[in-house]
Amino acid sequence: MSQLPVADNQVVRAHAKVLIRQHRAPLVRMLSLYALAAVMSLIPAWIIGKITNLAAKHQLTSSSISLYVTGLFVSSLAFAGLSFLARRRSYILGEAVFAQLREEFLASVLALPLVEVERAGTGDLLSRTTNDIEALSRTVRFAMPEWLVAIVQAVLTLAAMVLVSPLASVASLVSLPFLYFSTRYYLHYATPGYRRERMSYASMSGSVSETAEGARTIDAHRLGDRQAARIEGNIRESFYSEMYTLLMRLVWFPIVESAFTLAIATTLAWSGWLALHHDITLGAATTVTLYVVQINDPIDRIVSWLDELQIGQTSLARLVGVSVVRDDRPTVGVEPTNETIVMRDVRYAYRAGHDVLNGVSLTVRPGERLAIVGPSGAGKSTIGRLLAGIDAPRSGSVTVGDVALSSMPLAMLRRHVALVTQEHHIFIGSVRDNLSLARPDASDEEIERSLDAVDALEWVQALPQGLFTELGTTGHQVTPAQAQQLALARLVLSDPHTLVLDEATALLDPRAARHLERSLGAVLEGRTVIAIAHRLHTAHDADRVCVVIDGAVAELGTHDELVARDGEYASLWRSWRNERPEAS
Ligand code: ATP
Repeated sequence: MSQLPVADNQVVRAHAKVLIRQHRAPLVRMLSLYALAAVMSLIPAWIIGKITNLAAKHQLTSSSISLYVTGLFVSSLAFAGLSFLARRRSYILGEAVFAQLREEFLASVLALPLVEVERAGTGDLLSRTTNDIEALSRTVRFAMPEWLVAIVQAVLTLAAMVLVSPLASVASLVSLPFLYFSTRYYLHYATPGYRRERMSYASMSGSVSETAEGARTIDAHRLGDRQAARIEGNIRESFYSEMYTLLMRLVWFPIVESAFTLAIATTLAWSGWLALHHDITLGAATTVTLYVVQINDPIDRIVSWLDELQIGQTSLARLVGVSVVRDDRPTVGVEPTNETIVMRDVRYAYRAGHDVLNGVSLTVRPGERLAIVGPSGAGKSTIGRLLAGIDAPRSGSVTVGDVALSSMPLAMLRRHVALVTQEHHIFIGSVRDNLSLARPDASDEEIERSLDAVDALEWVQALPQGLFTELGTTGHQVTPAQAQQLALARLVLSDPHTLVLDEATALLDPRAARHLERSLGAVLEGRTVIAIAHRLHTAHDADRVCVVIDGAVAELGTHDELVARDGEYASLWRSWRNERPEAS
């Protein structure tokens, strides 16, 4: 199963740049506050240097000590206050940026073409909406601010060192080659490792959720062992990819730690030597060494947050990747002038080179009941999806009023034709929310009328808060038949002139099905109906019957005409009637 795309580094960088531009002012304010705090944190080492100089010259008096101690006290207090303000700002900024990213991602997910979602499976999307969003939240809320702050602190500490004594500071550079080359090596090898790690999580959650969803089928076909082996394979892949990144950290972290210790030892020895030879004062040697000790902390943070930033970058690439998928529908389109649906020489393939429709031509007259029948796998459901505008044909055309269905914006398409299947979904929200999805501007009266039309108003009004009762996993639980009724009421609200029914009531228990067929009957009233008929009595009652064999229309006519012709339909009808003598 192919996964959704992952954005490349260039796209991710461009995205990050736009984000920075959008939040430039608060970012600059936050960094300025951190810079002020960092300056405050540099004062103690400088004061200690001054005290050391005075002590070395035996000039330390109680008034100078009081002055310096007051300075230490004030700078510490200012550091604490400024850090508090800066941190507060950085958390607010982090939340704002994260909220924006989450909303953009949600908008991209909702705009994903259905075909892409089906192709990629739910696992990949699920993993992006959970694991990747969570990883990105850690990056944007904590890693990014901490990292920026650490950079500000490191740069300012370095500047302070150079200001105090450029000569003594040189020694600290000894750690640079170690830091630079080990970090480059780490980034080069760890980035693909983190990407592989994320993809393995997606495959794992995909396998687990698909196994859970299809548990009955898996049981029925005794595929349990195969699924277990697949999940085990996914776990193994996750394990090895985690081991790989762990190994990377295991090599890199000790090198970084040793580089710090080396820098402190070298600076102490070098500045001590300079002080002994009177090239610098003892105070300057003390201050520079203290700064090297102090700079370890921000550099350590820069380095350790890099890890989290890598994960965040990978997650961002996966989230931005969703927005890279091109919308397969325009936002504006030509409004059809009539309600006739026409398929002209339609060919369609799920896999390149394997056409499942081989030149289907069919005209559906407004207001008629057309049944599509044929053996299993003949292509009936595929024709249904094309007639409902879900997929576009590979060649040929499917039009309503001479406008191609696949070129119509979704909102316009749904006013013309809708597909009704046995799948129904209750969204978390009130009954009203569940219905107004079909038409956000619908009034309470219109919603009640649509419920009444499908015979559902009575039970909805009997709910604790009527229309405003919360449904879904955390709210009131409705039965499958009630959920199907809500789906039908949605159809009444969106009011398409044509409905494509694919096994709309097939999976329900017979009592509910009879009740539902009444509701469905009310919805079908006055509309064109194309019924994918798996039970032939639907065909018997239809105005015309279209027999599909091997992806092509084999016969087309009324039930009586086709029975009289004694062809494919007549034999299908005879065998169906013989299986059910009561149907004749
Ligand atoms: P049934 O009555 O069993 O539902 P059908 O007549 O509706 O069958 P379709 O579901 O349209 O037939 O399938 C037509 C052909 O396309 C079949 O060979 C099927 O295996 C194939 N097919 C259907 N869906 C997909 C898919 N998502 N990917 C690949 N092939 C598919």
